[in-house]
Amino acid sequence: MLVGIRYAGCMSLEKTCRRFGDEFRVPPGKGAKIAKRDPGETLGLKESPEAAAATAENVERLGKLQQVFYADGRRALLIVLQGIDASGKDGTTRNLLTGVNPQGVNVTSFKAPTGEELSHDYLWRVHKVCPAKGMMALFNRSHYEDVLVVRVHDLVPKKVWSARYRQINQFERHLVENGTVVLKFFLHISRDEQRRRLQERIDDPTKNWKMNPKDLDERKLWDDYMRAYEDALTECSTEEAPWHVIPGDHKWMRNLAISQIVADTLEGMDLRFPKPTFDPATMRVK
Ligand code: AMP
Ligand code: MG
Repeated sequence: MLVGIRYAGCMSLEKTCRRFGDEFRVPPGKGAKIAKRDPGETLGLKESPEAAAATAENVERLGKLQQVFYADGRRALLIVLQGIDASGKDGTTRNLLTGVNPQGVNVTSFKAPTGEELSHDYLWRVHKVCPAKGMMALFNRSHYEDVLVVRVHDLVPKKVWSARYRQINQFERHLVENGTVVLKFFLHISRDEQRRRLQERIDDPTKNWKMNPKDLDERKLWDDYMRAYEDALTECSTEEAPWHVIPGDHKWMRNLAISQIVADTLEGMDLRFPKPTFDPATMRVK
């Protein structure tokens, strides 16, 4: 179902936006090549009122599509956000879901597992919060932490985490075959941009609450994290559940790209309002 797109009236902007899905997708079976991708990439676009309007239109479009998605009720949508500290997972969540009916979406922020969660397999807590048909779910961090932080900090032996790529692919395939559309986004920022954002969390009293002093230790493990991300995205970008590497240094570009890809995906889904279970021609409210 198409819902009116105006793209701030700019054809070249529209053309570029329509390329985001292909440009940023990690091709299945090929390396993610994170280091070769520019976190400041804008594909020639500039921060402008037109770009801001295009993001606003995407967000509005997503809100409208969500209604028919819910009414259609045949499929679910799972959006996975991953990224290093201060990469913009919270900001993306806030922007992307602004226009969506809160009743139609569940957001889960995955923290270090509790004792109960650890006593189960690592996908147990994840499967429980996967979206029902008609629903959207957004994961702020996800089961990928079990091949990221867990690997970087040696929380389980290599033999255990390295088997998880296959398990995750099987799990996601299972979700997809049962009606869930899975979209995964890695918010790719540069080391410099992370330094700026973390410093801001220290300097700005209204951002102090976001600062976890441990983030400074994690930052020292930057290269280890990048290796872990490279492998996770390479091993687990599949036809059915692709990863996207989203340039994240410019927040406006990140919000434009993700809102575009999500709205375009829903638009391509042949969503329909269900046929009424009654004959409207024979009914009248008196
Ligand atoms: P934040 O996103 O700032 O709220 O922090 C959440 C923290 O939980 C991060 O440091 C993650 O690395 C950590 N975390 C999330 N999932 C796991 C996991 N499966 N194992 C260990 N730590 C995790
Ligand atoms: Mg944090």
